[in-house]
Amino acid sequence: MIRKFLAPVIANMPLAAPGHRVLTFLAPALVADARPGQFVAVAADTGVQVLRRPFSVFTADPATGEASILFSVHGPTSQALAAMRPGDALDLVGPLGGRVFSPDSRPGVRHIFVGGGYGVPPLVFLAKTIHAADPHALMDFVDGARSKEFLVGTDGLEEIGVTLWLCTDDGSCGHHGRVTGVLPDLLGDRSRPAHIYTCGPTPMMQAVAEMAAAFDVPCQVSMEVFMPCGLGVCMGCAVHRTDGTYARGCVDGPVFDGREVVWQ
Ligand SMILES: Cc1cc2nc3c(=O)[nH]c(=O)nc-3n(C[C@H](O)[C@H](O)[C@H](O)COP(=O)(O)OP(=O)(O)OC[C@H]3O[C@@H](n4cnc5c(N)ncnc54)[C@H](O)[C@@H]3O)c2cc1C
Repeated sequence: MIRKFLAPVIANMPLAAPGHRVLTFLAPALVADARPGQFVAVAADTGVQVLRRPFSVFTADPATGEASILFSVHGPTSQALAAMRPGDALDLVGPLGGRVFSPDSRPGVRHIFVGGGYGVPPLVFLAKTIHAADPHALMDFVDGARSKEFLVGTDGLEEIGVTLWLCTDDGSCGHHGRVTGVLPDLLGDRSRPAHIYTCGPTPMMQAVAEMAAAFDVPCQVSMEVFMPCGLGVCMGCAVHRTDGTYARGCVDGPVFDGREVVWQ
């Protein structure tokens, strides 16, 4: 159920990556309903912005009722988020998003997450959700960034059995190059079925979806198009589909089948 919250801020922690933070807040009703791929629409008293801004749910802990978002500072709303202190009230609406990540239930499936930038948070939520349902699930997380310090958000995944594949544009950590450089080895293993879930910059997701199609592996993509209302009303987040129709990224997505999307 979509609700409006004035959620008390619990913590606002800087990450090693410049301008990146994790904001934790108390919202038990949101935690109870949120699914991986869903997001919250945040309002901040910026003085210049009317519209809320979307941020993916990063963590949702049923034991504490706490949820978090991982964000990088771009403009007024994220600057206001960066300035929040414990005890402040975070004004948000959520959980939003009508179509979320759907874990592949085939026996023995290899779950492959491919994230870049602020596409990592919903995939971390998904990996933890899959692990909670099946502690023996086989999971690989391919994380790409421009350099080592921008590889954020995947702490703790190895402890739940996720194999991390780190990629940096400058070669400062892991594979020197793009996420698509390590995917062929993972997708080439035909001993078990595979399924890709990806979120990040559009060119990255396009490349991943095209590679998945070439290997005939299903691929879910979370489209982080600009979403003015987040509620399906304004039509400002249109996603062009290969059947010629347009979907609303916020309520018909944000998750789509990679073969459904017209990328250019
Ligand atoms: C479903 C969804 C989930 C998201 N989850 C996260 C998240 O978990 N963490 C996070 O840091 N961000 C996330 N974003 C992006 C975030 O909503 C935007 O960056 C937002 O504009 C930030 O607001 P702002 O006021 O700080 O900056 P703004 O003033 O809104 O934007 C600053 C600059 O960034 C550009 N910009 C804004 N959004 C985008 C975009 N989507 N693509 C390309 N350029 C853009 C603007 O044109 C402007 O130049 C998500 C977006 C969507 C649609």
